Amino acid sequence: MIAERFSEVTLEKRDCDVCGSQDLESLWSYEKNVCINGSTNGYSFKVNNVICRSCGFTFVSPRFNEDVLADYYGSSLRSPLDQSLDYDISFRMDVINRFLPKGVKPKFIEIGPSTFCEFQERVSEYFAYRGIEPSSAFGSEWKNVQDFREASLADIVAHYFVLEHIPNPLKFLKECNRLLKMNAFMIVEVPNIAIYPADPVALHLYEHQSHFSLRTLECLASKAGFVQVECTDKSSRSFGMTAVFRKIKNGSTESPPPNVKKTSCQDIVAFQGHAAIPEYRMNRQFFSLGLHKVRNFNDSLSQAKKFIENAGNEVVILWGANQNLVDFLGHAYPNSNAPNFLTFVDSDSRKRNLLLDYDGRFDKMVFTPSECINAIKESCRLIVFTRRHKQAILDSIISLAGKRYKDEDTLTVDINP
Ligand SMILES: [Zn+2]
Repeated sequence: MIAERFSEVTLEKRDCDVCGSQDLESLWSYEKNVCINGSTNGYSFKVNNVICRSCGFTFVSPRFNEDVLADYYGSSLRSPLDQSLDYDISFRMDVINRFLPKGVKPKFIEIGPSTFCEFQERVSEYFAYRGIEPSSAFGSEWKNVQDFREASLADIVAHYFVLEHIPNPLKFLKECNRLLKMNAFMIVEVPNIAIYPADPVALHLYEHQSHFSLRTLECLASKAGFVQVECTDKSSRSFGMTAVFRKIKNGSTESPPPNVKKTSCQDIVAFQGHAAIPEYRMNRQFFSLGLHKVRNFNDSLSQAKKFIENAGNEVVILWGANQNLVDFLGHAYPNSNAPNFLTFVDSDSRKRNLLLDYDGRFDKMVFTPSECINAIKESCRLIVFTRRHKQAILDSIISLAGKRYKDEDTLTVDINP
C-alpha cells in the first residue's frame, strides 16, 4: 500500500560515458523510496551501480530520466539538515583567485548553488555572478543549464558537488563548455571514489549517479572539449577532489580547431598504457571497501532501533539533528511512528524548533540542550549522531544536567569517520 505513494523514476540505457563500452559489471543494486517535503508522495529510485570493465569508470546504469529528476529536485526544498553550507569557503576562493581573469567584473556562472550565501557574496565582489539552480527556493530564472541560452560568455563556470548528481555528465560538461569563452576555465569539485574506503558518505547517497576518480573525471572532461590544468585530491568538503579545466575547443563540435591536438578518450587510455586496467581494479576496490562501510552503518541503524526498544518506555535522548539522524528515522520508523519518549536535541541553536522532516511528515521537534535539562536528567539512554563531537557532548551533559551515562547506555551512529 505504501508503494502506491511513490512514482518510479524512469530509467534509461546508459553505456560507459567515458569510453562507450557496454561491458559493465554490477557492483551494488538497491531501491530507495523518497518522500517530497511535506507530502506523502514521493519517488522510488532503483539504483544499480556498475563499473566499466574497459576503463574503470564507476556509475549508475541505467540512468535516471532527466525530466523526472528535474521535477524531483525542483519540488524538494532542501532540508536545513543537508549541511549545504558545510564547506570551506577559503578553499574555494583560493582556487578562484588563481584563475581570476583580468578586466572589470568578469562573468562567473555557478551551477547548482542551492542558496545564495557568504560564498556567493564573496564571488560577487570580483565577478558578475549568475546562478543556475533547479530548486524553486533559489528563484533563479535558469533552472537548468540548458535554459541558459547565451553561449561563450563566461570567464569561469563552477560547480561544486553537482556533477555526481547529473544523469548524463558528458552532456552536462558539454553544456558547461558552451557557456565558456574559449580558453576560459571550469572549476569542478566532486566526491572522490578514492576516499570511499575512509568515508563512504558520497557512496551512501542514492542521488549520486557517478563515482569519479581524478582520472575518469579528466577523461570525461576531455571528451567535452577541456584540458585539465590543475587537480588535487582536496576540496572544500572532506570527501571530495578538485579539478580545473580549460576550454580548448567547442564540446559539441566533432572536429577541433586545427592548432589543437585532438584528444580522444582512447588517446588517454593509450597514453596511460598499462594504467587502463589498474583504474578498473583500483576503483572496484575503493567501491567495495566503501560499500562495506555503508553496510556497517546500516547495521548500526538496526542496532540503534534495538537499543531504543530495550529502553522500555523511558526517555531516550537522540543528540545531533543531522543526516545520520534522518537516515536513522527513515530506517527505523518508515511510517513516521517514532515513539514519543524520544527527545531530539542539538547544540546548534539554529536547529532549534526544526521539525524533522522524514517520510514526508513534520512531527518531531528539535530542542536546544538547555530546553530539555529535565528530559536529559530523566533519560536512561543516549544516542549520539556525530562521532567527532561525542566527547564534547558527553562533557556538556555532565556540566548542564549533572548526568553521567554508563558506557553501555550510550551509542554512536555516524557514517562519517
Ligand atoms: Zn568505460
